[in-house]
Amino acid sequence: MMRSELLARLEAETMWDILIIGGGATGLGVALDAASRGYKTLLLEQDDFCKGTSSRSTKLIHGGVRYLAQGNVRLVSDALHERGLLLKNAPDLVHPLPMVIPVYRSWQVPYYLTGLNLYDLLAGGLRIGWSRFLSKSATMQRVPGLSEDGLRGGILFHDAQFDDARLGIRLASAAAAQGALVLNHFRVESFIKSSGQVTGVEARDRFSRREFTLRARGVVNATGIFSDTVRKLDSADSPDLIAFSQGSHVVLDRGFLPSETAVLIPRTDDGRVLFAIPWNGKVLAGTTDLPVPSPELEPSPMQEEIEFILSHLGRLLARQPQTKDVLSMFAGLRPLVKARGGVATSALSRDHVVLVSDSGLVSTIGGKWTTYRKMAEDTVDRVVGVAGLEGRACTTESLSLEQTEDARGLAGGLERGAVDGNAETNSEICGLPAADVLKAVHAEWACTVEDVLSRRTRTLLLDARKAIEMAPRVAELMAAELSMGPDWVSEQVESFRDIAKRYLPSD
Ligand SMILES: Cc1cc2nc3c(=O)[nH]c(=O)nc-3n(C[C@H](O)[C@H](O)[C@H](O)COP(=O)(O)OP(=O)(O)OC[C@H]3O[C@@H](n4cnc5c(N)ncnc54)[C@H](O)[C@@H]3O)c2cc1C
Repeated sequence: MMRSELLARLEAETMWDILIIGGGATGLGVALDAASRGYKTLLLEQDDFCKGTSSRSTKLIHGGVRYLAQGNVRLVSDALHERGLLLKNAPDLVHPLPMVIPVYRSWQVPYYLTGLNLYDLLAGGLRIGWSRFLSKSATMQRVPGLSEDGLRGGILFHDAQFDDARLGIRLASAAAAQGALVLNHFRVESFIKSSGQVTGVEARDRFSRREFTLRARGVVNATGIFSDTVRKLDSADSPDLIAFSQGSHVVLDRGFLPSETAVLIPRTDDGRVLFAIPWNGKVLAGTTDLPVPSPELEPSPMQEEIEFILSHLGRLLARQPQTKDVLSMFAGLRPLVKARGGVATSALSRDHVVLVSDSGLVSTIGGKWTTYRKMAEDTVDRVVGVAGLEGRACTTESLSLEQTEDARGLAGGLERGAVDGNAETNSEICGLPAADVLKAVHAEWACTVEDVLSRRTRTLLLDARKAIEMAPRVAELMAAELSMGPDWVSEQVESFRDIAKRYLPSD
């Protein structure tokens, strides 16, 4: 899958049924839904797939126990249904995750168990397991890193965990397998209209700087935190509908929580929940909720957020984590549908909204990773009506997202060193198989070192120093595959270092 071939296909097509702007969870979900219904589908992402919020989540596929406490039963029950579907349809990327809420006072046992039993009931037949009380010794056995100070026991419940950017790439592959053309590093700059109706977009290829005029019957705005920006390209006086809330995470060595069970702190000092989760051999902890004024593709965690997370972990764990222990840290911005009046961002709805502008632009706003499939279904239903396309039923509830035969074959070939002209496929870069880099380039749309080290592999999020160390060799390997010279290698390494430094606390 060379980029030149993708661009040739783009040029050959004169009219798309559905054009999607934005390649995060929402846009990729819409692309898969639309293509699997048989619509001629194009998706354009300005940077890399999942570069925005969709690679910066807490990696939970969950109903959201906290939304239950807020009384949003429908949101929780819909999300639990989607959790069950994902466990069935993408079993290699989404797996059950046991969690414990540590208990320090006896009244907490009936309080949490009642809520969590309702949570289990709402999951119906797609329930993972029943919640129950664990004695102090059973809690310590499951979660050995906890401090025993004041601990009375724990409440065990179940949710699911995933790798967000990897699921994003899988959605892109599945959409492509259904006939969609999905392109990253391709920015939509303006709309084209006829009689006031959107009939396509002007978009630019980041690498060649070439501009393309692309026509479509229906256009979807799935740009997350940039939804208002794109709505203003359509109509300059569109009102702002999104509020931005930053959530940060820290990644620590597994020694701080040597367990396959996650821990949920049910009430932080600012009244939220905080997770400490085993993830890819490390501990991922977060998140925070900090209102910010504007959208940002590469937000940085604030020092105060890191201190907040570390201090809450310190109250819970036997070993107190310090700033120097942080292997990586990352922030994401939540696109929250604005409420009227001065409501805190933590209280704004995680539900989604599908809007149609006077020009026929369909915008999907809000939601969460867990519910991407339902958001996509609602969006495609809407755009089909607006664009006057023939109605066809959604099939994604039962569509398998397991790796396609083609991708498996290519990966196997790369592992065996079977790609023409490549002598290095069996080598490793600091533990990363070179075959994974080649697969990222040839089968997963990776164009930059950051694409590979941040989202095809998750090295940047797991250990930023190690990612910086690996960058030169990854760049050289990619350059050989992409026929790039030494200038490209230096430029890639330098720009990756600039980004990676933001994943480390300042000294
Ligand atoms: C800290 C945090 C933790 C979270 N944890 C969880 C969790 O554990 N579980 C869960 O279910 N949900 C979680 N969420 C929510 C979830 O991550 C988001 O709801 C989801 O990723 C949003 O996806 P999106 O596609 O709408 O937006 P994005 O992922 O931001 O995608 C929008 C894309 O549009 C692109 N774009 C913008 N403008 C243009 C343009 N002009 N042309 C082309 N492309 C453009 C951007 O580059 C971007 O990639 C979390 C969110 C945050 C912030």
